Amino acid sequence: MIYLDANATTPVDPAVLDAMLPFLREHYANPSASYASGRRVRRALEQARVQVASLLNARPTEIAFTSGGTESINAVHASVRALWPAKRELIIAGTEHAAVLESARRWQAEGGQVTIAPVHPDGRVNLEALRTLLRSGSTALVSIMWVNNETGVIAPMHEIVAMAHSAGALVHTDAVQAAGKIHLDVKTTPADFLSLSGHKMHAPKGIGALYISQRARFAPLLVGGGQESERRGGTENVPGIVALGKAAELASQHLDDGTKARIKALRDRFEHLLHAALPEMHLHGCPAHRLHTTSSLCLPETDAAGMLILLDQAGIACSAGSACHTGALHASHVLEAMGVSARDAACTLRFSFSRFNTKAEAEAAAHAVIESAHKLREAQGCDLAVLAH
Ligand code: PLP
Repeated sequence: MIYLDANATTPVDPAVLDAMLPFLREHYANPSASYASGRRVRRALEQARVQVASLLNARPTEIAFTSGGTESINAVHASVRALWPAKRELIIAGTEHAAVLESARRWQAEGGQVTIAPVHPDGRVNLEALRTLLRSGSTALVSIMWVNNETGVIAPMHEIVAMAHSAGALVHTDAVQAAGKIHLDVKTTPADFLSLSGHKMHAPKGIGALYISQRARFAPLLVGGGQESERRGGTENVPGIVALGKAAELASQHLDDGTKARIKALRDRFEHLLHAALPEMHLHGCPAHRLHTTSSLCLPETDAAGMLILLDQAGIACSAGSACHTGALHASHVLEAMGVSARDAACTLRFSFSRFNTKAEAEAAAHAVIESAHKLREAQGCDLAVLAH
């Protein structure tokens, strides 16, 4: 299999697995236990907190471990809603992940108001529109993703934070697709809350973190034994936390060692080959602010569902739209929010690369896509000469 679906989930890095295994085998003590083996586990947990904090340039005390991106997002929304009941409004973008959209739906069901900030056709939030939507006194929270999972579009987060803060609103950013891929610095981009997830950065599934700025008040979603400094009750997932710490450390190294340029070269090579053979192909998302790992592309007259079947047969793992909603293919709300026609959205595939991909894989995948597109169009009796114009 050639795995080009890293935005859905990533393979666990062997070094991450090596780091976590001792905490499944011998270091199984409860980190709250006062005896030596418990203290040993506690130290590993705190080291992981330092590693995750350092990826964000945060303080270790500002990191709480959770079960993943979805929990972190829900926890922030619930906390803000509970602590600022007089401010009713939540602003999100139309391109948010389902975790934010559904949590916003709950915000509304509980009597709050949700406003959708529009995005430009290139997928970036319309800052002018956002400015007019912000209402001091009523906007409690702006919750906008740092990087989009379908298109890889990188949000103008610095501007969003500044704008929201000047209107007296708090800011949460879903950085699940950004963490470990681009430099994130909560000192220079001072969001109040940030969510990240282990399985998008070569740690296992079911582990994540929530950055809670030391400036921000927070009420836990899960209460129980007071773990995570009263911010998330429940015995900690120690192997997962150790894995996330190691993954964050590795990601920090790879942000500086040329890995990013190598992945971008693979992705660009893939797109170049496709473009040469299928000139009618077009890419979604702002060219200047597109994650180097992601290729969201429209191949006119090639139904994505059919392409997925042919590519699967060719051993290529990729997705159409958001992989978090597999089962039935439905129009992508992200592309819809960007004004992409339903016809083009139905012909859109997402390929997402990671540091585990090679140039040979990128090239083989491009050839498989080209061949599959020809096959599908032939079967549909599509006139390629017409498409070329
Ligand atoms: N936010 C984004 C942008 C995502 O891509 C995902 C997962 O696909 C999530 C949130 C949910 O994260 P998790 O799977 O850790 O709950």
